[in-house]
Amino acid sequence: MNTYEPPIFELSGSGKVGASLPAVGVPTSELPSELLRTDDLQGLPELSETEVVRHFTRISQRNFCIDTGMYPLGSCTMKYNPKIHEEAARLPGFAHIHPLQDEASVQGALRLSYELQQLLAEIAGFDEVCLQPAAGAQGEFAGILVFRAYHLDRGDEQRDEVLCPNSAHGTNPATAAMVGFKVIEIATDARGNVDLADLRAKVGPRTAGLMLTNPNTLGLFDEHVQEVAQIVHDAGGLMYGDGANFNAILGIVRPGDVGFDFMHYNLHKTFTTPHGGGGPGCGAVGCKAFLAPYLPGPIIHHENGQYTRYVPEKSIGRVKSFMGNFGMFVRAYTYIRMLGAAGLREISENAVLNANYLRVKLQDVYPVAYDRPCMHEVVLQGKLKDAPDIHTLDIAKRLIDFGFHPPTVYFPISVAEAIMIEPTETESKQNLDAFIAAMRQIAHEAVETPEVLHAAPTTTPVRRLDEVGAARKPVLKYDRAAIAALRGQAASTDDQIVRPTY
Ligand SMILES: *Cc1c(COP(=O)(O)O)cnc(C)c1O
Repeated sequence: MNTYEPPIFELSGSGKVGASLPAVGVPTSELPSELLRTDDLQGLPELSETEVVRHFTRISQRNFCIDTGMYPLGSCTMKYNPKIHEEAARLPGFAHIHPLQDEASVQGALRLSYELQQLLAEIAGFDEVCLQPAAGAQGEFAGILVFRAYHLDRGDEQRDEVLCPNSAHGTNPATAAMVGFKVIEIATDARGNVDLADLRAKVGPRTAGLMLTNPNTLGLFDEHVQEVAQIVHDAGGLMYGDGANFNAILGIVRPGDVGFDFMHYNLHKTFTTPHGGGGPGCGAVGCKAFLAPYLPGPIIHHENGQYTRYVPEKSIGRVKSFMGNFGMFVRAYTYIRMLGAAGLREISENAVLNANYLRVKLQDVYPVAYDRPCMHEVVLQGKLKDAPDIHTLDIAKRLIDFGFHPPTVYFPISVAEAIMIEPTETESKQNLDAFIAAMRQIAHEAVETPEVLHAAPTTTPVRRLDEVGAARKPVLKYDRAAIAALRGQAASTDDQIVRPTY
């Protein structure tokens, strides 16, 4: 029997209203007849305020989020979002301003933006920062456009290739291709670093730049990063830093000091602004002085006590409206100022410690892709002894029944059956131990009761969905028949639920 659930959709009933308007306090006037509707509005839902609130609250409770449980999604740095950020972002002087106001009337907001630019530049070792891009991927797009503008400006027109290691995040090659470059893949060596021999064979006069995530998406710090930068620079190319994994090295390594010319910061990863929810995020970009003239704008300038905006002389143009997503600047600024330099370093030390703790406690059961100390995330493999029919996807789905969001799976694509776990510094030892116990119990079930893993998840409102179908043929609006069909095949009955036992 299904547990009874109150209906979530189809709550409309004729005559119900959720608002009451005051009596008109001004004289009424007739609208010209050609502006009047003649037919009734059809199909609009009629609901009370209570019903609307319950509808959205119930739907929100079906989501797994960082405020309900551990979310060890590798590469995404799903760390706790401190609630003081929300208070800061709601201060009326920040929340109630308009981007078209006079600069003189928003000096405080401009000062905060300027100081955030300075802080980000200092933390990563760059000379100039622009806060405008709305996400890491848009920062990449801005960066590769800047690379192109720089080469063309110097008359260096034959550079039509961008190098990407095969462990790269999908956005790196996608970005290079969108800007019009040919993507050249570089191999990874046995220790998980860029393969220097392959790099030397492929770099040359057509190289516009190399895009590198460091620590990379194998969770490893590239041991030859300076040599990689030297090889690319000697060939006249530029070094793009994908800063998505910056959480591992805050206060320890500055990308600008080890050869990167340009980098994006994911404020929603490293600097705890929310991932989505409340609109776009911020993928600020930083660069060395020689690339600054090409940055998108506006950028904030400070002189004689005044904060003003400017667009660099050879700018690639805007990548987003106005300054970017100001609410995110307030949150990241609050975070950085609360922690200070010593606190930022401690974040990274603890993030790395937590990932290595998981690695050591799980490596006897789940093979580790590259056997050396990791940075802030560890890549395991869902290849279990004596469980040939169990795959990474089964393990990930069963974790949901244990109350954990699954880690990143099947990425990086260069590792078979990859399970990429990033616990972040915001999980306690108790939570890490609970996660370890769940992973070990799942490995045990994989051998003893593999059918449980194949059927997972069993405790969720819907069961294992057709993920390819969801991506290729999404149902994007409410469709009663489609949902009924989905529920019919998807909801667990009580006797199908397999609750975890340790
Ligand atoms: C998240 C991520 C990106 C893209 O960043 P968004 O802010 O999601 O656009 C790029 N590279 C890596 C390695 C990432 O983890």
